Amino acid sequence: MAELFYDDDADLSIIQGRKVAVLGYGSQGHAHALSLRDSGVDVRVGLPEGSKSRVKAEEQGLRVVTPAEASAEADVIMVLVPDPIQAKVYAESIAPNLKDGDALFFGHGFNIRFDLIEPPAGVDVCMVAPKGPGHLVRRQYEEGRGVPCIVAVEQDASGNAFALALSYAKGIGGTRAGVIKTTFTEETETDLFGEQAVLCGGASALVKAGFETLVEAGYQPEIAYFECLHELKLIVDLMYEGGLEKMRWSVSETAEWGDYVSGPRVVNDQTKAEMKKILGEIQDGTFAKNWINEYNAGLPKYNEYKKADSEHLLETTGKKLRKLMSWVDDEA
Ligand code: NDP
Ligand code: MG
Ligand code: MG
Repeated sequence: MAELFYDDDADLSIIQGRKVAVLGYGSQGHAHALSLRDSGVDVRVGLPEGSKSRVKAEEQGLRVVTPAEASAEADVIMVLVPDPIQAKVYAESIAPNLKDGDALFFGHGFNIRFDLIEPPAGVDVCMVAPKGPGHLVRRQYEEGRGVPCIVAVEQDASGNAFALALSYAKGIGGTRAGVIKTTFTEETETDLFGEQAVLCGGASALVKAGFETLVEAGYQPEIAYFECLHELKLIVDLMYEGGLEKMRWSVSETAEWGDYVSGPRVVNDQTKAEMKKILGEIQDGTFAKNWINEYNAGLPKYNEYKKADSEHLLETTGKKLRKLMSWVDDEA
């Protein structure tokens, strides 16, 4: 079973005694920088000249310098820029300013797990990854609560890297909820698998296939949209609150019976075999290599897939229907 850590296990004075640079001020960056500052930590934000995020960080009372200046000033550097550009930011702005005794922090293990960043031996390498979007992390912190975090140490040069990581997690409210110890490998591989096979890839393919099946059989797209996409939220909310059990308690007995007899026909042994293949390609680095190549080539296939799906009848139908539902927020 997982090892859990709470406020009493973490010493906030450790991170309060360091100089922290938060590189990036997006979803995670803003939450980390603001909450660390409110926890009495010396924080500067690192953003390139002309970055859109600069104005926001300054408006919110933070000192903003370039990523290189922030890395030079600080002895704890949290990398919260998009994963595909982290290696470049590391090479250009962080590595030249790293000293023995510094600590390099991440919110996701991708670049360390796949050796795109290889920090020197004298530096602690840690991860503090909140299990929620940055805006929830910040809101929970402000309300005196926290979002659970997972914490890992890849390299313990100082001998105190885990205590430092726990202290950082306390600074953003994570230990109020609970912190689970993991490794860079476990976090990276499970995160990629979850988003590909279940959360993003699996769920959107399931919705599309269900919608297409109904429309191809002659049913109206609007009705198919409600049945296959819109109502999914209701089901997921119930699962989130109380697992499969609460969802099955809430739906009709007919729906529950259909769940048992038809679910395993849709997601069957062949689906699971494909999931294992996907996991294998994550573990052996194939997925990471392909994704970084695609990114560096200027995202040709990514843009093609994006365009095709935006023109799909599911999406054009949804756009019209959501206008009828005043309570649905269609802002990106
Ligand atoms: P976002 O895309 O929301 O934000 C990225 C930030 O980086 C922006 O402020 C952007 O500024 C800035 N940026 C872009 N280029 C540079 C650069 N060269 N130097 C410095 N800053 C730069 O990222 P996320 O917060 O989503 O992700 C950050 C990390 O957190 C990733 O490792 C991700 O995997 C991880 N993570 C994200 C979660 C989430 O909920 N989103 C959850 C858990 C982990 P500008 O907009 O001005 O270009
Ligand atoms: Mg992810
Ligand atoms: Mg129904």
